Amino acid sequence: MTDSPRESAGVVPVRRAETDSGFQVLWTRRPEGRFLSGFRSFVIGRVEDTDADSNDSPHREAARREWCEEAGWEHAGRALDAQRLKPIGEWTSPAWAGEVYHTRFFVLELNEDEAAGCTEALDPREHDDPEWIDPARALERWRRDEVLLSPPILRVLQEFDEGIPAPESRLEIEGFQVSGGHFMLPLRSPTLPPAEYTNCYFVGRDDFVIVDPGSDDSADQDMLLEAVRRRKSRGHRARAIVATHHHRDHIAGIEHLQQATDLELWAHPEFDEMVGDFDVDRRLADGDRIDLKDRDIVVLETPGHASDHLNLFDETAQRAFVGDLVATEGTIVIDPPGGHMGDYLESLRRIRRLGCEVLFPAHGAPVTAPDDHLGYYISHRLDRESKVAAALRQAGRARADDLVSRVYDDVDERVWPLAVRSLTAHLIHLTEEGRARREDGYFEWTDSLNR
Ligand SMILES: [Zn+2]
Repeated sequence: MTDSPRESAGVVPVRRAETDSGFQVLWTRRPEGRFLSGFRSFVIGRVEDTDADSNDSPHREAARREWCEEAGWEHAGRALDAQRLKPIGEWTSPAWAGEVYHTRFFVLELNEDEAAGCTEALDPREHDDPEWIDPARALERWRRDEVLLSPPILRVLQEFDEGIPAPESRLEIEGFQVSGGHFMLPLRSPTLPPAEYTNCYFVGRDDFVIVDPGSDDSADQDMLLEAVRRRKSRGHRARAIVATHHHRDHIAGIEHLQQATDLELWAHPEFDEMVGDFDVDRRLADGDRIDLKDRDIVVLETPGHASDHLNLFDETAQRAFVGDLVATEGTIVIDPPGGHMGDYLESLRRIRRLGCEVLFPAHGAPVTAPDDHLGYYISHRLDRESKVAAALRQAGRARADDLVSRVYDDVDERVWPLAVRSLTAHLIHLTEEGRARREDGYFEWTDSLNR
């Protein structure tokens, strides 16, 4: 797509304070249901057509309007002179994030009187937990993996290193350092729509492993290599490549990366049976530990989507790298015989029991409410399974194809060929639970209990 980016403006409120750096910024958290929900942010809003009518630049006018609306100034009849908004830099969001935004950031220094009551005034539908914080303290919390920051917010906070930033500092941004310990780089990959990207993760900071280099696109493969080299030049050490499972959109970039780096490949013991043309240097089994200097990563076998599926769990930060266990949006294909519904449900429950704070999936943005997300995935599958059971009970005997129109009557017909595979996985699961029998491609309902 070549749509031009949507313009937006961000306000970074600042006040003088008796802290180490002598001032604080007001940050908030993006609410549920938004892109990057749970990430820290400032007051950001779109540039509207009417913002162009002002004498000032549309971005500055949008920033002024946004602040007056969201901080309750408009309501209180308080005006803001737009000249008080000092531009500090701009950022264009990457294409993988969906709609592309071009954002200009402005610092707004508030006096004591203006700053008082700001946290209460901010609209709670747009801002969770507004808090005044010393930028150095904010960065420290980020380095300790206590908060998530998107790239521009991280850069803005870093800009405060030597006091309140001068107008028009350039925000140079590299990749997506979501938390102090972990880096995310979405790359174009041969995946299933609606996804177009597979997230490659650098798990760990000083020592790190590269998870799922799945891009077959040479420009994106080069971008990954460049990111690895940049880390190396800072003294960080790549230890190995790790594949969460053998699907092509998770491994297509391994060869390119290995040719340039000689890195070992670590994967599940069954991985090379599935693909053949890879040498696995270390076989990762359930409970294995990957020692990365400042943190311990635990390997968890999570079969279901694929029989060689692994998750990596960062015990220190309570974060898990979950491959295709879940996606941020949509569901995961369970395609027998590699895919197995009973195993899949058990894997979802297992990761849910960990009580993680963040999940990093292979497709989509980080999941910041893991318990809700995994709970939804489990109940969604169980609902579907009861629909499958009801359809088979009524038919008595049927093939998966015969049931798809009934079981998936709520999804687009074009998805049915794919849905039949998950439907088959449900039928096999019912068979394993003794509720159905399988014979010559047909399934027969055998459960006498009317459940
Ligand atoms: Zn997969």
